[in-house]
Amino acid sequence: MEGPAKRSGLLLCVCQGTCPSFQGMDIFEVLNRVRREALVDWVGLHPQLCADDGDVFLQELLKGADVDTLYVAGCDPRMQAKLFREPFEAINFDRNRLKGVDIRNMDTDQATEAIRKLIGKAEGE
Ligand code: SF4
Repeated sequence: MEGPAKRSGLLLCVCQGTCPSFQGMDIFEVLNRVRREALVDWVGLHPQLCADDGDVFLQELLKGADVDTLYVAGCDPRMQAKLFREPFEAINFDRNRLKGVDIRNMDTDQATEAIRKLIGKAEGE
């Protein structure tokens, strides 16, 4: 018998949108491609998840939520794991549910492909 469907979401985080690392891509087009391909259940954009209000955002979004996997496309995944540790711990969100990918200095196609690969790999685990 199949268990409940796994739910997943993708957040794009873009260093306030002003960092040159994200200037080469159309962030809304990246999100729209992921939506059109229905790679996850929902997508979202945050300017700076590692700021204090980013902590609040993550906690409000994930607290008690039905999210098996949170994909975050932004900076280096090891950096993400460190930066999001406190908000995850505050709400007992299992940090292993975070799957991050670095999309800095990519164009729209490269960023979309990096996200596709991340999600494909995680689903194959
Ligand atoms: S979490 Fe990473 S991508 Fe997001 S604002 Fe901080 S350094 Fe930039």
